[in-house]
Amino acid sequence: IAKKQRNSYRLFESSMSQLPSREQQLERRMPVALEQGEFTVYYQPKLSLDSNTIIGAEALLRWKHPELGMISPQEFIPIAERTGFIIKLGEWVIHTVCKHLKQWDLEGLPPFSASVNLSMIQFRQRDLIQFISQCIEQNGITAERIDLELTESVFMHNPHSTIQLMRELKSIGVQMSLDDFGTGFSSLSYLKNIPVDCLKLDKSFIEHIATVEKDQAIVRSVIEIAHTLGLTVVTEGVETKEQMDILKLQNCDAIQGYVFCPPLPAGQFLAFCKESQPV
Ligand code: C2E
Ligand code: CA
Ligand code: CA
Ligand code: CA
Repeated sequence: IAKKQRNSYRLFESSMSQLPSREQQLERRMPVALEQGEFTVYYQPKLSLDSNTIIGAEALLRWKHPELGMISPQEFIPIAERTGFIIKLGEWVIHTVCKHLKQWDLEGLPPFSASVNLSMIQFRQRDLIQFISQCIEQNGITAERIDLELTESVFMHNPHSTIQLMRELKSIGVQMSLDDFGTGFSSLSYLKNIPVDCLKLDKSFIEHIATVEKDQAIVRSVIEIAHTLGLTVVTEGVETKEQMDILKLQNCDAIQGYVFCPPLPAGQFLAFCKESQPV
């Protein structure tokens, strides 16, 4: 009986392992998904706290899987990075963003910039500069309309070559932002050496800003130092009016967050911009 049980257990196990895991399912579907138009780019506007106008938008990738529904980039980006598909997917995002910028120009929106999240793997890819230049040229937009967001993790290994690569990218005229500042090993001291235009404060930085005085002091100092170094500061994940008011008092340049607008599909984003444009 013992032997039989063991065998049937094995049988059960082997038939189980033939079912692909959710991760395998996503991994296999990804190339088809891109061809079938399951990926879309959403946009979340950046609100200037000085002028109260939209000064840019962040492109955020979305995947609507036919069976599994909406899948978060937090789940599929790491898979795409592991398989290398992120290169193709990332190129598609850049291409799509350039097309949208061109469309919005034709719709009469002010020429604000769009931020694209760059994965470390994409950043280290040789053809990236050429690819971006081509997309910009093909759509007749200027390079400064593209802002590339990188996280601090790109400095973890070989900070020297990272800075070199960033300089090369900057030389074609794009803007660069340091994303998620305040998570990871944020250090203010290296800010002076890296060619970024903008610091994006992570939402964890300001989550308790309305109630914790020390948090206010930290944010105030970071903004001050960033400004001294000639960087603009955008805070992300701003959810309340109170947080927004405090950030304005602390001279934060712009915010992104649900308090103003969530990420929207391109069409809805365009409508939102038209509504909020001063007439
Ligand atoms: P991220 O770059 O830090 O993007 C900010 C995230 O905060 C977005 O999540 C956005 O939807 C969310 N968010 C915006 N406002 C608020 C708010 O008021 N409160 C809260 N709690 N969250 C807010 P999302 O869209 O799920 O993206 C998650 C991450 O996936 C991004 O984090 C980014 O690292 C990555 N990602 C998204 N699109 C791309 C892409 O095209 N390429 C690459 N490489 N990564 C991407
Ligand atoms: Ca980002
Ligand atoms: Ca971020
Ligand atoms: Ca983040």
